[in-house]
Amino acid sequence: MPRRFVLVDRDGTINQERHYLSDPEQLELCPNAGPGLRRMLELGLGLVVITNQSAIGRGKFKESRLHEIHDRLRQLLRADGVLLHGIYFCPHLPEDRCACRKPLTGLAQQAARDFGFSLPESFVIGDKNCDLELGQSVNATSLLVRTGYGAETARGPHQADEVVEDLLHAANVIEDRLEIDSRRALNSQPVKLRLWTA
Ligand SMILES: [Mg+2]
Ligand SMILES: [Zn+2]
Repeated sequence: MPRRFVLVDRDGTINQERHYLSDPEQLELCPNAGPGLRRMLELGLGLVVITNQSAIGRGKFKESRLHEIHDRLRQLLRADGVLLHGIYFCPHLPEDRCACRKPLTGLAQQAARDFGFSLPESFVIGDKNCDLELGQSVNATSLLVRTGYGAETARGPHQADEVVEDLLHAANVIEDRLEIDSRRALNSQPVKLRLWTA
């Protein structure tokens, strides 16, 4: 199992934003989504999707339909060589006061428990402030993509650590950060002093 994970938003980040997407046939990947996620897997990262789906709570469609949409999403991604480790969704309405609707951290905590990874060492990617706030709340590194509502989010006040074009750009930024982390880990290894005696 990967040691570090990326928590990725769905709508506007992996697939094109559609208002209450309800038909698997409406699914269309964002530019560079497949190649970007594949690159993250190649970097040894795990991938989980964290998504708010209040359309369920609003009765717009049933949970079984959501599973069909997610099957189609996995199928589209598989064509790009991407296998997701998990998809976590919140079906509730804001007024349900659940603990899983982003920016709350319930789903992220659940994923971290399921796969045994550390949230502060994770990356959170999304197109809205609720994604970035989730990242902040768990001390992860937050990346704002400009796809979906991202360009709009980038114009306002936001808490992103990095603003990127799309998921491929996100993968490149993550790669740089992983390199910096590993160099830092190397430098912080205790220096062994050896005394040479003649
Ligand atoms: Mg989104
Ligand atoms: Zn919820």
